Amino acid sequence: MRDSIDELAELFKRFPGIGERQARRFVYYLIERNEEFRRTLSERITSLSKQVTQCRECYRFFQTDGNDLCDICASGSRDRSVVMIVEKDADIIAVEKSGFQGTYFVLGGLIPIADEKNIRHTRIDKLQTFLLKKRTDLKELVLGFPMNPSGDFTDQYVRKVLEAYASENSIRIASLGRGLSTGTELEYSDPETIKNALKNRA
Ligand SMILES: [Zn+2]
Repeated sequence: MRDSIDELAELFKRFPGIGERQARRFVYYLIERNEEFRRTLSERITSLSKQVTQCRECYRFFQTDGNDLCDICASGSRDRSVVMIVEKDADIIAVEKSGFQGTYFVLGGLIPIADEKNIRHTRIDKLQTFLLKKRTDLKELVLGFPMNPSGDFTDQYVRKVLEAYASENSIRIASLGRGLSTGTELEYSDPETIKNALKNRA
């Protein structure tokens, strides 16, 4: 019989940034907490698949009442001429705190260096469809990838893919990265830093 502690630790190990030791700490934490806590946690996890859906425009996940556009894409007050392309949903939460008024597209991952063919984990193809569907009001794409080698590589790759489309449609492509310090992930940047990076985007 398989050990249920091992089995649950294996699942936690799949979480981003979680290693063997931390995975086991999570399991022991759950064992020490009461039954009520474990039940609430498992109910919340189950309800994710019932109540959370992916926005058909920007691909972020959100709590839905049957609508297929998230609150940002559905809002009439956002600046739809500027679209920021980010790696993941958590980045949007950080950028929103900086007061950014444009809209987003979630790429869903970075393009691994020296493995350019391995783009299947990203939504590069969907990004192209998204842009083709876009109305003529699009003026600028802001590439908001982290300041690390994969982030730089993704920045260059996306620029290359969109270059022709952008110049044909007079769309500016800017990168956020220059205002962030090396190694910085958008997700962990404070609002002031992001605001400055936006101001200095190039
Ligand atoms: Zn959306």
